[in-house]
Amino acid sequence: MGFWLAGTEIKMMIEKMKQENHPHLAEARIAALLTDKRKISGNKIVLGTAKKVSAEDKVLSDFDFKIILSGEDWAQLTEKEKFALIDHELSHLDVARVPQTETVGGRKKPVKDEFGRTIYTDEIKYDDDGKPKWKLRSHDFENFFHIAERYGIEIASKVGGYFPPDGEKNQARAAAQAAEPAEADEESSE
Ligand SMILES: [Zn+2]
Repeated sequence: MGFWLAGTEIKMMIEKMKQENHPHLAEARIAALLTDKRKISGNKIVLGTAKKVSAEDKVLSDFDFKIILSGEDWAQLTEKEKFALIDHELSHLDVARVPQTETVGGRKKPVKDEFGRTIYTDEIKYDDDGKPKWKLRSHDFENFFHIAERYGIEIASKVGGYFPPDGEKNQARAAAQAAEPAEADEESSE
């Protein structure tokens, strides 16, 4: 199984997508690799994987995240699909944010929404070196194609446990989701 560094095309796509859709990743150092071994996970073909570089590996490299793409599949994608894949992988990369707190009986407690999910502020968490604390974010929803076909993406998302975009509930949910993969040092998301 071989890996090689992505060329200018991919690097430029990452920069463009970062600027357009992921401004919170401005300071993130993202390595892009290609592999000749396509990964199969269950019944899914994995075109890309996003990983957070562990504290241990950070000593050896200068990166915060790694994006690994299937070289064979990449070559077959249209321009639009390539951007979508990069955009998708960048969506797995996130910064940790400070939870909203309230003082109850002289003690600070995180604020929960009506469903018991932690609500986060826009404030970014920083490490001791003053760098943003990075984390991975899981998918917003998983679903069945046939349900999406029969009822549309909004209803399919809702009954799949995901509140459609723009709702207040969705924001709290998205924040809670983003916070879920706790402080594990090395993680990956497909
Ligand atoms: Zn994914």
